[in-house]
Amino acid sequence: MQIARSKDELRAALAPLRGAGKVVLVPTMGALHEGHATLLRQARQLAGDGTVVASVFLNPVQFNDAHDLAAYPRTPEDDVETCRRNGVDVLFMPTPDEMYCADRTITLEETHLSTVLCGASRPGHFAGVCLVVDKLFNLVQPTDAIFGKKDYQQLAILRRMVRDLDIPVTLHGAEIVRGEDGLALSSRNARLTPEFRAAAPSIHRFLTEARADYAQGAPAAEVAAAVRRKLEAIPGVRVDYAELVDAETLHELADEKRLALLAVAAWFGDVRLIDNIELSRA
Ligand code: AMP
Repeated sequence: MQIARSKDELRAALAPLRGAGKVVLVPTMGALHEGHATLLRQARQLAGDGTVVASVFLNPVQFNDAHDLAAYPRTPEDDVETCRRNGVDVLFMPTPDEMYCADRTITLEETHLSTVLCGASRPGHFAGVCLVVDKLFNLVQPTDAIFGKKDYQQLAILRRMVRDLDIPVTLHGAEIVRGEDGLALSSRNARLTPEFRAAAPSIHRFLTEARADYAQGAPAAEVAAAVRRKLEAIPGVRVDYAELVDAETLHELADEKRLALLAVAAWFGDVRLIDNIELSRA
């Protein structure tokens, strides 16, 4: 595995590998866990004899909260090992100064899907995501890229970006990887207190119960309200949103024959966790 810390090193590492099959990119912010490792293995399988590129870059532009950025876990040495063990050919690990010009003036904002759910409570977050992913696409020029459905809204927005800007990359959505207790793996889980860590698997339990209720005909608004109520009953938990929406438009579900998404964000102490589940009528 080659490690590129600058854009020039990345271009030099990739130049001899281009044109020999797929180039599959997996962007991450580091503090890699088994969810990321699963995406890397899927990338390896998809690439075959081609090339797997991973990026580990804690993108400051997508953090609207300086405390969240400062507290975000960083494990660069372990991340290198995780990439090495899971079939990565080229690992791109730039600094923010390498990635961004100090006087940059271009922004990249999706204006419909970004207004709801996490976009409503994290202003500027998805513009930062679009900017960094578009830059990574330009630098790596992948044929394919893999993103997790854990960040369902992010994937939907990036699909829109690729479509609306005619970016020649095929996007793949990976299923959510969970611990045995059901908690969606996340770099932020490491910051939970023991009490909140013990309570956090209930998010997935409530979502699973909601899926069953929805399949049996419960009204959409009631299904979402029940999840909010159950989460708010946990001491110290504050719900940011619990909403049932159209899985593609992320806005109101106008037609219940379409795939629905129940998405949740909640503060467990000072850690904000997100999770979601796809729903349909039986
Ligand atoms: P992050 O480092 O949090 O930006 O995540 C990098 C990529 O890994 C994103 O596409 C995430 O959606 C994906 N990812 C993170 N956690 C999980 C998980 N538990 N299951 C599936 N994908 C995940």
